[in-house]
Amino acid sequence: MFKIGTKFYSIFHNKCPRCHQGNFFVNSGLFSWKNNLKLHEKCSHCGLKYMIEPSFFYGAMYVSYGLTVAIAIAVFIICYLLGLSLVTSFIAIVITLILMTPILMRLSRLLYINMFVHFEKKYLKNRKEQPVDSQNS
Ligand SMILES: [Zn+2]
Repeated sequence: MFKIGTKFYSIFHNKCPRCHQGNFFVNSGLFSWKNNLKLHEKCSHCGLKYMIEPSFFYGAMYVSYGLTVAIAIAVFIICYLLGLSLVTSFIAIVITLILMTPILMRLSRLLYINMFVHFEKKYLKNRKEQPVDSQNS
């Protein structure tokens, strides 16, 4: 669906933002509640350290907040167009957000790291030819 080399590929395929080869989350299933947010320490392909600095992913909370508000507004508009009452709309928003929590948490982390780490074509090549470093240096 998305071409390798685009940020969408990394975000929607759970891939390293730099090489688009190694997995970002340990668990690839979205709805496994156990270890849903567990990251690999570094990329298995290019060696990028995912935790760029201590507490790096606290910033993903802001991304998550934005996504949550956008979804709540979208659900409210759908409920409004269907002619549902305010209480029913509120219940629909809460249920939708609860069901989408695992997706939003993972998506916000992937979006956040993709803001800071960019795709580098040189890491697409054969693994043995690449320099293995831990960071963008
Ligand atoms: Zn990588």
